[in-house]
Amino acid sequence: MASKFEELINYRREIGNFDKACTLINWDMETATPKMGTDTMVEMMGALSTKAFEMRTSEKMEQLIDAVLEPSEFEQLDQYMQKAVKEMKKNFEENKRIPVEFHTEYTMHMAKAQEVWRTAKRENNYEAFKPYLEKNISYTKQLYAYIKGEGKGNYDSMLDDYERGMDMATIDKLFDELKEELIPLVKAIVSKPQPDRSKFTRSLDVNKQKEFSRYLLEYIGFDFDRGVMAESEHPFTTNIDRNDVRLTNHYYENDFLNAAFSIIHEGGHGIYEQNVHGRFEHTPLSECSYMGLHESQSRMFENVLGRNINFWKPVMPKFYELFPEMSDVTVEELYREVNRVQNGLVRIDSDEVTYCFHIILRYELEREMFNGNVSVDDLPKHWADKMEEYLGIRPETDAEGVMQDTHWSGGMFGYFPSYLLGSIYDGMFLEKIEEELGNVDTILAEGRIKDITKWLNEKIHTYGRYREPKEVIQAVCGKELSVKPLIKYFKEKYTDIYGL
Ligand code: ZN
Repeated sequence: MASKFEELINYRREIGNFDKACTLINWDMETATPKMGTDTMVEMMGALSTKAFEMRTSEKMEQLIDAVLEPSEFEQLDQYMQKAVKEMKKNFEENKRIPVEFHTEYTMHMAKAQEVWRTAKRENNYEAFKPYLEKNISYTKQLYAYIKGEGKGNYDSMLDDYERGMDMATIDKLFDELKEELIPLVKAIVSKPQPDRSKFTRSLDVNKQKEFSRYLLEYIGFDFDRGVMAESEHPFTTNIDRNDVRLTNHYYENDFLNAAFSIIHEGGHGIYEQNVHGRFEHTPLSECSYMGLHESQSRMFENVLGRNINFWKPVMPKFYELFPEMSDVTVEELYREVNRVQNGLVRIDSDEVTYCFHIILRYELEREMFNGNVSVDDLPKHWADKMEEYLGIRPETDAEGVMQDTHWSGGMFGYFPSYLLGSIYDGMFLEKIEEELGNVDTILAEGRIKDITKWLNEKIHTYGRYREPKEVIQAVCGKELSVKPLIKYFKEKYTDIYGL
């Protein structure tokens, strides 16, 4: 007879089949579905996700979880599965507190708001989006009041939802310190001359670029026996399970670096997913849903490793082989180009240093919107003022200002800080990698990047969601979270590049 725990896992496995089918439909919609096929896909997904939601919040689920929480059952589990069951209980209670009518209303409103945003952004019409944004804020407050309990529909709850254990007090401190150090650094950098970039806008065959993307993924340790790569409008990573991890890329004929760095980024996400321990399958521990931690892995590969000159030294022969028309590009020129720091208005086009300000600005505005100090009417002005304060530029339109990202239109408040937390973690991981594996420049120059991948697999990926972000930092680095290593990394690197 199956144990209580096995019964619970089997039920979760059943729900998981519906979730996985939704993931697959979503993947198909992004990569293959013809325009006229979208409605059918949406209907399928709606039916499957409703079924999964019903099962997840059913009495049967509650009984199964509670049976395993009985001390006689619970004490037989190891620490990992105990944590998994506690997570199931937490998720169950949170889901259960959302009234079904509200859930439907919320989902429909957010879908509509995204549609309105898309048009409003294209037409640069903030007035059209504004009432939806205002409603997104109140719906989000209500959602968290249900999930976390009355009175907790606040910004801290949202931060905690995307990155467990994070709150305004922690983030304010980290971001303030970063601002203090980075504002003068960026000022110093942008006063220096920038090199010519014309070699990097040459037209390069898209099929060759795809081959190069595939090469880069294999080079950093992505396993193609358990993963695939396709194309979509915006690159992303998704997974059915650890044995089926799916990435996409997007190719521009005149900007091969865009595709190269996008795929290294997505590869970092993918490698994380492929290396979560198999015993966590069908439990919440296999779902790596701490966004900052996830982002730390993609940004480790994209920025810390990928934008190091030594990453490229062993890669150049393949690069010249695929793109003979680039034979006059030296590794130094390429390195210089991929570390160009420039004040720009658009977050996704920005470099690793000014990116920090794009996030700090969004975080501060979200915090003040939820604290009631910034209204949607005043938002564009506050946005422009902060942009000017941090980067010395002002957007001329709302499309390239307050409406540029999809997050707010979909109700994802509290998500933005994750990106920068990821970089802050990376500063700390880098310090530890050098301590344990030796000089990163040497490792990369010798073509041994997979030594670093393996280190990340063993120290971070294998644990899945077992450890919360702050616990990961403590376990891996043996110290408290700090921005100092990231600041040191920026200062050393850019002082050298720009001759400051
Ligand atoms: Zn990412």
